Amino acid sequence: VICDQVNIHTVLSGIMPMISSEATLHGVMVDWEIGDDLPLVTADQEMLKQVFLNICKNGIEAMSSGGRLTVKGRLERDREGRRIVIDIQDTGPGIPLHMLDKIFDPFVTTKSNGTGLGLSVCQRIIHEFDGVIRAVSRENGAQFTIVLPC
Ligand code: ADP
Ligand code: MG
Repeated sequence: VICDQVNIHTVLSGIMPMISSEATLHGVMVDWEIGDDLPLVTADQEMLKQVFLNICKNGIEAMSSGGRLTVKGRLERDREGRRIVIDIQDTGPGIPLHMLDKIFDPFVTTKSNGTGLGLSVCQRIIHEFDGVIRAVSRENGAQFTIVLPC
């Protein structure tokens, strides 16, 4: 894997047109709350695009009768260093508790035409760049969080 210094704002700008048109088709509103002043991360830009595309598409697909997708980025710092935290939140039905620890496994899908590969690939990519990916589910939707060191 070739690593560069990547701007998350650029990564997300790259997928915005695709996500926006997909969202429109599903009656979903999208909020992008990403500053263009976040520090760079060491990663591969195209692979990160793949990750955010997958997660946003899952969120949109989960909201069959419309809703809101929110993509937020922020910088966190403590004595261990700095990291970028990106939350992708939807207002769909959420993820059943018994599924939460399985969704990152390959071939796990609840869709009739799904491959179940999206999230396992996302996790592989994020781990490759020393990051963390996790999912939480609430009664008002699912939230995926990606943490990348910078
Ligand atoms: P696929 O999209 O092909 O089903 P993924 O690996 O992308 O495969 O997702 C695996 C499963 O995780 C989905 O089939 C779905 O059951 C669940 N899932 C993922 N994202 C969400 C979400 N935002 N809301 C509800 N369920 C989700
Ligand atoms: Mg998917």
